[in-house]
Amino acid sequence: MVVDTKYYETLGVDPSCSDAEIKKAYRKLAMKYHPDKNPDAGDMFKDISHAYETLSDPEKREAYDRFGDDGPQMGGGFGMSPDDLFANLFGGMGGGFEFGGGGGYGGRPSRPRRGEDMVHPLQVTLEDLYKGKHTKLAMERSIICSHCQGKGGKTGAVKKCVTCKGRGFQVAMRQIGPGMVQQMQVACQDCSGSGEVIKDKCKKCKGRKVTSEKKVLDIFIEKGMVDGQKIVMKGEGDQEPGVETGDIILVIKQKEHERFQRSGNDLLCRVKITLIEALAGFDKIIALHLDGRGIHVTHPAGEVIKPGDIRRIPHEGMPTFKRQDDLGDLYLQFDVEFPENMWTSVDHVKTMESILPARPVDTTKKPDIVDECALLEGDLEQFGAKSRASNVWDEDEEDEEDARGGVNCAQQ
Ligand SMILES: [Zn+2]
Ligand SMILES: [Zn+2]
Repeated sequence: MVVDTKYYETLGVDPSCSDAEIKKAYRKLAMKYHPDKNPDAGDMFKDISHAYETLSDPEKREAYDRFGDDGPQMGGGFGMSPDDLFANLFGGMGGGFEFGGGGGYGGRPSRPRRGEDMVHPLQVTLEDLYKGKHTKLAMERSIICSHCQGKGGKTGAVKKCVTCKGRGFQVAMRQIGPGMVQQMQVACQDCSGSGEVIKDKCKKCKGRKVTSEKKVLDIFIEKGMVDGQKIVMKGEGDQEPGVETGDIILVIKQKEHERFQRSGNDLLCRVKITLIEALAGFDKIIALHLDGRGIHVTHPAGEVIKPGDIRRIPHEGMPTFKRQDDLGDLYLQFDVEFPENMWTSVDHVKTMESILPARPVDTTKKPDIVDECALLEGDLEQFGAKSRASNVWDEDEEDEEDARGGVNCAQQ
């Protein structure tokens, strides 16, 4: 919302008009009211020039739209003429002062004024991103009241607030140093900062100019979309009178998948096979794809797959966004399940020894002393646990903590 329209009124243009329109309006009025041509026009020419000076500069114009003539500024001290104050308004912003506390208005396109975009995360499964999906999303948003067309009341019922002259704020002066005065803006109490007083408020929107609307949006999640990608629903944001409606922006959040990991267009899937399959090959469906298809693989005997080994199936990864036939690869990482204790008979062992590579021959020199030991079950959870349990320092620390806690309680 434009807080102050005075300069626009001076030039006889709408606050949403283009830079060209401002220039045109200024030329026309300057010709008409120039003191040489129209000596009786009083301050009119000066006013027009002031208005044009501000509105013709995109940065000054945006600052003016946001803060008005009396926005936060550093004046040069009491007793300055309006012209001097004006000259200082945008020129002499010393001391690191920035409009809007450094909101960064510079370089932003300012025409036409635009409502804020509404950004929502959209949780999407990897299956949806693989296959694509139509979905619906119910949204609630503000729309311009159809009863009063966004005026807030009957034509003529909406009046500029007298207290703040329609600006929505009042200016308070504060001396911040010798000869230095800071002007601060405070929201107008009479109009709650809206700059308007509505006598006969619209019954539908109660003078708010907007009503809320439930809308169901049709959303198309396209094949190959990625985490963080945005789906922009143009002009579906909150409506506000005199402001171009912003967009609804849905940001894809890819849910974690229990079987597949994705990196770019490639997929990684963990596959369990047994030791016999790892050694003697297999001919089977090793995984179900994201669309439910079985991935059938024939793997020859003798091409041993070790635990953690990676294999790749070309063109079974994710489709590429907008190039659905361009597919990534499917990577498979193998877990090899070893059998439980089962090689009990001498025959079994002999059979194994006849198939598998021979036992290594120990060629190292035998140490002088050799102890006979037994292998027991082990668990890394227990690694170091025995010594931790009996650690004297740990116990001391606990005692200290208890003592501190006691002191704290006593103090309270
Ligand atoms: Zn209304
Ligand atoms: Zn007011």
